[in-house]
Amino acid sequence: MSETEKIRVRFAPSPTGHLHIGGARTALFNWLLARGRGGKFVLRIEDTDRSRSTEEYIESIIEGMRWLGLDWDEGPYRQTDRFDTYKKHIDRLIAEGKAYHCYCTPEELEARRKEALAKGASLKYDGRCKDLKEPVPDRPASVRFKMPQAGNIVVEDMIKGNIVFENSQLDDLIIARSDGTPTYNFVVVVDDVDMDITHVIRGDDHLNNTPKQIHICRALGHDVPKFGHLPMILGSDKARLSKRHGATSVTAYRDEGYLPAALVNYLVRLGWSHGDQELFTRDELIKLFSFENVGKSAAIFNPEKLLWLNAEYIKSTPPDELSELVMPFLIEDGTVTEGSKPGRAYLSRAIATLVERARTLVELSEKLRFYLIDDANIEYQEKTMKKFLNEKTRPYLEDIHAGLASVEAFTHDNLEEIFKSVMEKHDVKLGKVAQPVRVAMTGGTESPGIFEVLDVLGKEKTLNRLQKAINTTTKE
Ligand code: GLU
Repeated sequence: MSETEKIRVRFAPSPTGHLHIGGARTALFNWLLARGRGGKFVLRIEDTDRSRSTEEYIESIIEGMRWLGLDWDEGPYRQTDRFDTYKKHIDRLIAEGKAYHCYCTPEELEARRKEALAKGASLKYDGRCKDLKEPVPDRPASVRFKMPQAGNIVVEDMIKGNIVFENSQLDDLIIARSDGTPTYNFVVVVDDVDMDITHVIRGDDHLNNTPKQIHICRALGHDVPKFGHLPMILGSDKARLSKRHGATSVTAYRDEGYLPAALVNYLVRLGWSHGDQELFTRDELIKLFSFENVGKSAAIFNPEKLLWLNAEYIKSTPPDELSELVMPFLIEDGTVTEGSKPGRAYLSRAIATLVERARTLVELSEKLRFYLIDDANIEYQEKTMKKFLNEKTRPYLEDIHAGLASVEAFTHDNLEEIFKSVMEKHDVKLGKVAQPVRVAMTGGTESPGIFEVLDVLGKEKTLNRLQKAINTTTKE
């Protein structure tokens, strides 16, 4: 087996919220590492904090991963299914003298902590239970890991380089509470060891856990994985990213009409760069991504750039594909129903006229509406109707109607010729004729070029809509 085939990368979210921007970026970097090097990508849910982990959040994280196209080779494993394994490892460490029972109660520990704080002394556990020869009867016991105290430990970080921690700073960590439940820093390592994880990529808010986790990993007799700690993502005010900065969950971006490919492209640039290239296909990312080009400083979240990227992706996605992607939004809007979906070809042609104007699928869905509703349901705003459908414009509409009724095909040349002849007859500019026609077709005053619109709508719809507008013309 070659070196690269052994790569095992994991993404290990704690489901205390939906998959947010930071979590999604971590997932993506892990995924790219695995895919780029032919490794395995393992999804593991760190749900031991039961008071904060909910099923809804677990579902939402998985949904977010699927939607982003970050497929995994193993899992989702759940820590709550693995308590027996943790227990086995705790027992083993005790038997090997690498962990010990501690009989100090939380109240005692808190009192000592306060005292130390008042004296300005070290807050570390004083180690009084470390060398007990006999168990203390009738006292609940937690289990502590014997942290090595001499010398230094070096975290060799793929992004930050070598970071040195003094072992004397590290506490004898509680690995099991007195009720037997294992603690976070322990179970993470047991999982990484058991799952043979070779690479751990996570946010740098975990960096202080890493020296402890390395010691535990060694005590469990396993090779230490390679670590990479990603700089945080900040809002434009340099505060830690939150909803306040317009950052929401991955599934919320989906619902707001972002394309997964656009969000992936956006996420990868939060910390990684390849020259000044902005747009990447997924294959390119898999090929080009490397930790050498991940920045050391915090990335700034910029919602306008995400919107710009999304608009770029809408422009470059084939209309046929967009017709699939926009369908849930059209259904949500009530523009179409499951039973009355428009023909794919018609929808694609309508979309092609709008891709330059819609930045999200929500906008695309709204702008598509006039193409898809029944002719009889075109509605004009009161003011628009008065301004554009009146006695003065009525003759233009009638002449356009007559002209269009007489041609077979709605080619650009045919349409232009008809509009020209009406303009000449009434001695008016194109806008004077085109705008009432636009209102007749769409109900509003903004749309793609009028010839494009007529071409998509086709003869029957166009004539119906013109007739409806003629019938509603009002006195100015
Ligand atoms: N569960 C941790 C989190 O959600 C990640 C820990 C890790 O990757 O080791 O931040």
